[in-house]
Amino acid sequence: MMQQYMDTKAQAPDALLFFRLGDFYELFFDDAVTAARELEITLTGRGSGSDEKIPMCGVPHHSAENYVLRLVEKGYKVAICDQVEDASAAKGIVRREIVRVVTPGTVIESKALQEKTNLYLASVVPKDGMFGLAFCDLSTGELSVVEHADEQAMLDEMIRFQPAEVVVPAGEENSEYAITMHDLLRTVLTTGGEKTHRHDRASATLLEHFGVISVDSFGLAQYPLAVSAAGMLLSYLSATQKRSLGHLKMPAYITSDEYMTLDSFSRRNLELIETLRDKGKHGALLGLLDETVTAMGGRLLRRFVERPLANKQRIEERLDAVGELHEHLLLREDLRQLLDLVYDLERLVARVAYGSANARDLQAIGSSLSILPHVKERLAATASGLMQGIAERMEDFGPVVDLIERAVVDEPPVSLKDGGVIRDGFDEYLDTLKQASREGKRWIANLEATEREKTGIKSLKVGFNKVFGYYIEVSRTNVQYVPDTYERKQTLTNGERYVTPELKEKESLILEAEEKLIDLEYQTFVKVREEVATWLAKIQQAAESIALVDVLQSLATVSAKRRYVRPVIATDDRILITEGRHPVVEAMLKGEPFVANDTVLDNASHQISLITGPNMAGKSTYMRQVALIVLLAQIGCFVPADHAEIGIVDRVFTRIGASDDLAGGQSTFMVEMVELANILHHATPKSLIILDEIGRGTSTFDGISIAQAVVEFLHQNPKVGAKTLFATHYHELTKFTELFAGVRHYSTHVQEQGEGIVFLRKILPQAADRSYGIQVAKLAGLPQEVLVRAREILAELEQGKPEWAEQSGYRPKAELGGAMILREEAECEAAPAIEETPSKKKAGKEAANSMQLS
Ligand code: ADP
Repeated sequence: MMQQYMDTKAQAPDALLFFRLGDFYELFFDDAVTAARELEITLTGRGSGSDEKIPMCGVPHHSAENYVLRLVEKGYKVAICDQVEDASAAKGIVRREIVRVVTPGTVIESKALQEKTNLYLASVVPKDGMFGLAFCDLSTGELSVVEHADEQAMLDEMIRFQPAEVVVPAGEENSEYAITMHDLLRTVLTTGGEKTHRHDRASATLLEHFGVISVDSFGLAQYPLAVSAAGMLLSYLSATQKRSLGHLKMPAYITSDEYMTLDSFSRRNLELIETLRDKGKHGALLGLLDETVTAMGGRLLRRFVERPLANKQRIEERLDAVGELHEHLLLREDLRQLLDLVYDLERLVARVAYGSANARDLQAIGSSLSILPHVKERLAATASGLMQGIAERMEDFGPVVDLIERAVVDEPPVSLKDGGVIRDGFDEYLDTLKQASREGKRWIANLEATEREKTGIKSLKVGFNKVFGYYIEVSRTNVQYVPDTYERKQTLTNGERYVTPELKEKESLILEAEEKLIDLEYQTFVKVREEVATWLAKIQQAAESIALVDVLQSLATVSAKRRYVRPVIATDDRILITEGRHPVVEAMLKGEPFVANDTVLDNASHQISLITGPNMAGKSTYMRQVALIVLLAQIGCFVPADHAEIGIVDRVFTRIGASDDLAGGQSTFMVEMVELANILHHATPKSLIILDEIGRGTSTFDGISIAQAVVEFLHQNPKVGAKTLFATHYHELTKFTELFAGVRHYSTHVQEQGEGIVFLRKILPQAADRSYGIQVAKLAGLPQEVLVRAREILAELEQGKPEWAEQSGYRPKAELGGAMILREEAECEAAPAIEETPSKKKAGKEAANSMQLS
């Protein structure tokens, strides 16, 4: 047996091996030590012939799933080794085989899956600086591929999918990109099978699996690396799952010109899925938009939010649908109620294909499919092309619904092993067996009464136990009245148990029938399941349709609830918003009203909005609000405004606050500059850029210089010309840009009240002339002494050189001669005009380098 164990273990060296022995799964050696520690179960030892004991631990097979999932959640792989022949039929040791390897990216057990989140397994294949990627959600069958021309884009894509496990080609687990990816995603890294990523092998794998003759069928002819990644991923799935993967959909290439590009910084900064502060859903855009009633809709909505459209026609299609649902409350409510009855078809049908669906799963499929005609009827009556299209594509599932209804009983058990699953009348032979068993049982049930009457023994009882089967029990005092036909079977302290030939006969009839019954019920069920599996592709398509309808109604519901308006999708590059609101801040404000603000942006006279104003005045809220309104419009949702005209944006870039996030290791300032460089390199005239407090991570003069140079670059570079919202509390900046044709100045309205200020949150078309830093500090509760002293210093600074500055090398603004000198500083790397502390000098140099880069 240990030899068999060793051989099996050699097939799965990187997994913990669950080795089936009787009613337990046992682990040995290091696996046992690890599992005992992680699962907090007892580590024992097993004699190995020599003195030393082999470390060992085990879990009961019926509760193994929970243990397996716990280990997988902790990042382990678990290989399940089962007995693959009947122990009674085996000669010598029972044959055992690994039947599945469960890994973090291939979990399909519903216990381990979150309803509204996909669980992805990813693969990546690099070549000459390019990357091919594939992503698969095994629980739904989704398979997407893409290629990226640089590492950052590859990482962005990975961050978007958040895979639970990434497969890299064998031998590449320690290469640089793999390590970066691993650190960034904190995900499990796995290696694919030898050479499975090679293009010829990979494409052969794909062709065979999907039964097509060319990768052209997937539209992947010009994407060899995507083919490699998908092929390697598929090989890995076959090697670990060891079963039919018929539910996998053909690989779909993720086209990018159809979609707005959102890098990972922006997705995070705009708090689309989770908040920056506590990574919670509450306070993120997705949480606000989620009025879906199905799990499939929830997952699709998330994809919509992460990937807004960039194609006018598709956006309008969605807006038409949302518009109609927005307008017709009854239709919307009707659909919501219907969809609420639909279970997670996508995952259920995957379990059918996988061969792991039980009777309850089939029933859930049947009842969900029976709702579809009603949904179809509602959709067909709409004016929206998108919804009509869904109705047209929706198949008639009558035959499957009927099959499942006829085959499965009303309340089937979870297990398929104990019978009681198939409905009467479905299969004639099954019915005969059931009849036999029922009749036998009825006969026995009546036996007590008839025998009591026959023998006159009032206390006679009929019972059953596992060892002797059915018996008749008579108490000691009545033994004398027992007829001769009774055969004594067992003696108890105060009675005897008997059987009769007739009872034995009925019993064997019942047992035989039941044994056959259970077996046959199982087989019949499997046949029904296989029949349902032939509908796989159609059900998957219906599931997609349902998800889409659910998302559309969710967007319409939110739009209606929050008084959003339909945006006009413009063909030029303007963004015009009247009385716009920040969707999330508005929803979170309790009591006080949200102050709406207007926005005008275009490629010409309103290219850059320079927004000044003190901290806390509402600058970042305003800028994010513009980005979110654009994003909502391109998702196909109504927007929080009185009126909005949105020219389609190809990319949203954000660079927000230097101090609010920290990627490990790099200085905040460096992070800021890296992100800025990315923006300046990639922005196009169709992009929307949001820059919040650029240069805050360094000294004031460095900061102002960089900020100024960035504004100039964006303004003067015709290749860029991107619409930009630029917030700064350096009010000085406004003076230097006064004469720029494309720069408009705005400020957040604050009202002075004595020594304090009140924020009015209104964006006014004029530059701020003060920073109000000390007033904000007062609001924050700084000690009075500090505030008083700060005011003194400020007064001195505003008048000229203060005394204390002699020693510290400070030079007042007047002496620097204003804009010209500052601009020279930005251009001149070598000679900082201001004496600074050494560390600041260094930061200044970094900044200058960064500028040259851009
Ligand atoms: P800044 O970027 O200028 O430092 P924020 O945008 O972070 O300021 O705004 C500070 C707070 O003010 C926000 O958390 C929000 O609660 C509130 N706020 C901002 N804008 C508005 C608005 N238009 N209406 C109402 N409250 C607002």
